[in-house]
Amino acid sequence: MHKKRADIEEDLARSLAGYRGEQALHYDFQFLKQNHYSVLEDLRLENENGDFFQIDCLLLSPSYLLILEAKNMSGSILFDQHTRHIIHNKNGLERSYSDPLLQVQRQRIQLEKWLKQQKFPFVPVITQVVISNSDTRYDATSNHHFVYQNVTSRLNLPNRTAEFESAHTDEVLSAKLIKQIAKSLIKRSTPYNPDLMHWYELKLSDLILGVFCPNADCPSVRDPMFKVNSGWRCPFCLAFSRDAHLTALKDYVLLVGDEISNSHFRDFARMESVFTASRLLKQLSLPSSGAKKNRKYKLSLPKS
Ligand SMILES: [Zn+2]
Repeated sequence: MHKKRADIEEDLARSLAGYRGEQALHYDFQFLKQNHYSVLEDLRLENENGDFFQIDCLLLSPSYLLILEAKNMSGSILFDQHTRHIIHNKNGLERSYSDPLLQVQRQRIQLEKWLKQQKFPFVPVITQVVISNSDTRYDATSNHHFVYQNVTSRLNLPNRTAEFESAHTDEVLSAKLIKQIAKSLIKRSTPYNPDLMHWYELKLSDLILGVFCPNADCPSVRDPMFKVNSGWRCPFCLAFSRDAHLTALKDYVLLVGDEISNSHFRDFARMESVFTASRLLKQLSLPSSGAKKNRKYKLSLPKS
């Protein structure tokens, strides 16, 4: 087993928990006031210092914007208001994390600045930390009122937003303006693409390279597909795919970077023929620079 595997699996588990928390939250949006909110997810925006800030979920309404930060943790959570940490206890095992209330406060300040910079009219920004696992108990060491006002369980979210709706009755944003803000946020959002190879100190030789079978039930995990005339064929289930190399290219962007040469593509997808690789890259009509051997194609990360 590769020495980094345990680290990577732990990080993956944490990301997946976060992702599932967001998904669970999404389900609850149907219980909010009908047609009142526009929902934007996974925003990553640049602030005036060139640093990025990230908002997992933003709800836009005519009277206010609502930043939601989902925490998907089972067991119990204690908001330690002295050290500003949360202490997560699961089956007697304790772990501490930075206080999500500080996190959303920072997101709010940055979003307010961003909106001002983009010359949008002032609109109140509210935040809420949502405990997305409905069995999770949470409590605070002090400042109970503050914590209870700013944290809610997922099931209580519709009641919480109803409170916000009655506290903010001034409609400062027209439907048209909400659309403009949403459009601008989406347009300026840059997907997060960290240099994972560098982060985990990996080399290409640490990866299992190749184009892999798209059939989810296929037992082939290590053996790549082989190139046939008009596509790819799985050596195990014999599935055929015309465009399985696109998944390999997506992995390449996420793992290695957004520039690829013919020879890097061949290494990564385990392909012999320079001509086939060249044909496949050309088919994608990617922006490129350089000529012949030095030609580099620019890959882009899908926004979703
Ligand atoms: Zn297969």
